[in-house]
Amino acid sequence: MPLLFRSTNGQSPAVNLREALLAGQAPDRGLYFPEKFPRLTPAEIAAFADLPYHEIAFRVLSKFTPGIIPDHVLAAMCREAYNFSIPLEKIYDRVQLMRLDQGPTASFKDFAAQMMARMFGRFLGEEGRQLTILTATSGDTGAAVAHAFHKIPGIQVIVLFPIAEVSESQRKLMTTLKDNVRTVAIDGKFDDCQAMVKRAFADPALAHISLSSANSINIGRLLPQSVYYFYAASRVAKPGEAIVFSIPSGNFGDMMGAVVAREMGLPVKKIIASVNDNDAFPNFLASGIYQKICPSRNSLSNAMNVGHPSNLARLVAVYGGQMDETGKISKQPDLVAMRRDIFSTSISDERTVAGVRDFWNRFQLLLEPHGAVAWQGFLDWNAVEPLGDAPAVIVETANPAKFPDEVEKVVGWPPDVPPAMTAAIQLPEDYDRMDADYEKFKNYLLARH
Ligand SMILES: *Cc1c(COP(=O)(O)O)cnc(C)c1O
Repeated sequence: MPLLFRSTNGQSPAVNLREALLAGQAPDRGLYFPEKFPRLTPAEIAAFADLPYHEIAFRVLSKFTPGIIPDHVLAAMCREAYNFSIPLEKIYDRVQLMRLDQGPTASFKDFAAQMMARMFGRFLGEEGRQLTILTATSGDTGAAVAHAFHKIPGIQVIVLFPIAEVSESQRKLMTTLKDNVRTVAIDGKFDDCQAMVKRAFADPALAHISLSSANSINIGRLLPQSVYYFYAASRVAKPGEAIVFSIPSGNFGDMMGAVVAREMGLPVKKIIASVNDNDAFPNFLASGIYQKICPSRNSLSNAMNVGHPSNLARLVAVYGGQMDETGKISKQPDLVAMRRDIFSTSISDERTVAGVRDFWNRFQLLLEPHGAVAWQGFLDWNAVEPLGDAPAVIVETANPAKFPDEVEKVVGWPPDVPPAMTAAIQLPEDYDRMDADYEKFKNYLLARH
């Protein structure tokens, strides 16, 4: 009997993983979430200590796939998707830095995108369907999605990006792929790209084209993000020992991965959700009143410039409440339990820069702005609650080479570029260019289908 996923808005029927993944958002505009979390026994979790990452991924994800993906197929998908390293570096005592930046596009988004693309490919193949993935990006997501879906049969990828708002290396990670991946540089802002994509999804003139967004609310992106918390604990904590995670958060998908791991049985002492100036969640946790930040505030950790984190609806659901897609709360979650499990703090740009500098000076370890937010958040938590001799993991979500200017300003030299990025950056680029004009974009889509 396959596991079922229900919508956080509670108005759509529960569906299996295949349906939830291909749909993205539920028909009632809620987010899909497991009806009941599958559990791992303490003995199953203890066994992870001796296993490579891809095997842990298989053992965690196979709890969600009975009747949907045969075990030997899922095992092969995990082996192919996770063929890069996940470094854990000692900071001090039992506090470690986990670098999720060794995938093909050097951000943690690769972990989810690599697995989701394989699941999409398999499900579409089974149904003999074709699909176009339409994504607007401000940088990291577009690159991770484009790389993951590159050459997957039955899928065409179209990525829109604002020409003046992405860095050269971010652009090249998208525009050098070709084949089934088309990139379109828009003479406009990220908001224009997103508005064009949203209109295309709602346009009856495009209804004959099968479109999907593969965006951050897809359950297929969330589940793989629970695996690296199991992995980190297997390397840093003793069996049964509770661990602390500090996670730099924007849309709260990464942080929800830790919540999923805990719901599946991983002992977790505290989840620290560290945000930049977009402080809607820490304010909510403190006051019980949710007020989204609109428009979102620009910060150095630009992948976290999110005024209304979409995954909060899932977090609220875990604690027995209900929040709709606009952020309206119809049922308050158990805030006491939430505060017991989660700490949240807002880190200014000034403290972000200081975090990169102090971390380098004290430990000779390099952070980029997102990781620096996680580090400062950990210090804030540790000032109010002692760590004792518990293990803790600070999550670094991008490679410092993706933010060369910010890093060089602080430490005085540019960070090394990882080999995966160097290779991509040397290939010739090929992309289309367009005004921020929906009619033109619509004709572009029609001409390609
Ligand atoms: C997307 C992103 C984040 C934020 O992750 P969420 O799941 O949206 O909270 C943090 N750091 C980097 C580098 C990212 O690309």
